[in-house]
Amino acid sequence: MRHVIALDVGGTGMKAALVGADGALLYEARRPTGRERGPDAVVANILDFAAELRAHGAETLGEPPAAAGVAVPGIVDEAAGVAAYAANLGWRDVPLRRLLTSMLGVPVALGHDVRTGGLAEGRIGAGKGADRFLFVALGTGIAGAIGVDGRVEAGAHGFAGEIGHVVVRPGGPECPCGQRGCLERLASASAVSEAWAAASGDPDADAADCAKAVASGDPNAVRVWQQAVDALADGLVTALTLLDPRTLIIGGGLAEAGETLFTPLRDAVRQRVTFQKLPTIVPAALGDAAGCLGAGLLAWDLLDTTDGTEVTT
Ligand SMILES: [Zn+2]
Repeated sequence: MRHVIALDVGGTGMKAALVGADGALLYEARRPTGRERGPDAVVANILDFAAELRAHGAETLGEPPAAAGVAVPGIVDEAAGVAAYAANLGWRDVPLRRLLTSMLGVPVALGHDVRTGGLAEGRIGAGKGADRFLFVALGTGIAGAIGVDGRVEAGAHGFAGEIGHVVVRPGGPECPCGQRGCLERLASASAVSEAWAAASGDPDADAADCAKAVASGDPNAVRVWQQAVDALADGLVTALTLLDPRTLIIGGGLAEAGETLFTPLRDAVRQRVTFQKLPTIVPAALGDAAGCLGAGLLAWDLLDTTDGTEVTT
């Protein structure tokens, strides 16, 4: 059966699947990145994993995979197929597409993790059918994916969608990017955890604890939460003023708070817009499978555009 390899490389773990033409997950596997042994070991683990997936496909599905899609964190030059930088994996300028193509002998697509997850959310997840969407992931940091007519915009240098570094509080807390008052320093799951640990006096309290305290009506938690929601709404209104998305999909750890987040967030966005059209604001639907599903879509898209025989290195 014709199928592709889908591989999502995270900070600590990798998720992979063999995906059929109809999107069916024919086989799934996970393994650690091994980042504690350094970036070269991570690259070797990715290549080994891909080789095993290829062998498994050939053995159980009657033919080897026709292509591969790989999602990686950090900064990614998708056009060149190079993983340019990832703080959590410690790598720089890894020519992953070339390495994988020469080992697998099939076309390989390389994508940025949030843009790849956003592709899946926009096409087969929470934004299914939307011609224009914005996917925003609220995790350790904040990043976005701009969906236009079924694909995700990477930008000229692979930096499009970095909404987490839109300054929403000039002069605010320092950000590792070099600016102050970036959205992700105020509204990421990490920022809310930090703020709630300080406000509650419990150093172990995190964003999920804050959400629970908000749901039970703790005024201290409501104040911390609303500050994050207001910062998030400021950043999102900037984005929707520029992009005019039909659907705004919010994912990542903070979105797991459900209506504790979405009810005040929809209100805060509605209060800020004047002439802009309000998008539908919905939670992400695919959870942590989004990156792997998106990597599968990248691989199938590559076959559609290259007829499946051309190998680009
Ligand atoms: Zn920043």
